[in-house]
Amino acid sequence: MTKVGMIPADCRNFRRAARRAGEIRYIVLHSAAGEGSARQQAERAAGYAAGVSAHYYVDGQAVWQSVADRDVAWHCGTRGAYAHPYCRNANSIGVALCGRVQDGRQTFLPETVRRAQALVRRLMARYGIPAENVLRHYDVTHKTCPAPFVESDARWAAFCAGLDGPAAGGQSKGRRRSASGAKRQK
Ligand SMILES: [Zn+2]
Repeated sequence: MTKVGMIPADCRNFRRAARRAGEIRYIVLHSAAGEGSARQQAERAAGYAAGVSAHYYVDGQAVWQSVADRDVAWHCGTRGAYAHPYCRNANSIGVALCGRVQDGRQTFLPETVRRAQALVRRLMARYGIPAENVLRHYDVTHKTCPAPFVESDARWAAFCAGLDGPAAGGQSKGRRRSASGAKRQK
């Protein structure tokens, strides 16, 4: 299991809250801006008032947490129209994958994708979040984010297929979801 370090974000980049586990109902995936490592992304969020944040940054080597799960990160809000009826910053956790830009297109390394899948599985187990509540930023506001998973349905499908495995924390036996992912865990 990946050990998750914490670099607290600047307090101007999120809203302090006291969310209980049952209030966290969605996981929203993003691309981190630019090409920095997970640690660099978290340090950036700690260093100035960006006005945006994610709970976690993931790269091929590590996961860094920036905003505590109980607090509300600013990752999927919009002043425009929402494409999703329910998912908002207030009821979700934002996970940002760190990418590379190749030939003008953003890509994720396979090890970054695997590490993100492991983190998402762990969060799904911790909060009883079903697979259908794991969303792209695109699904919430139609922003092209995370670009590799919006530009390629196959890559998004492959990411989702990888959520049906053991949680990174273990104890996966007998906890496989149905194809619809409808089964909720305690
Ligand atoms: Zn995003």
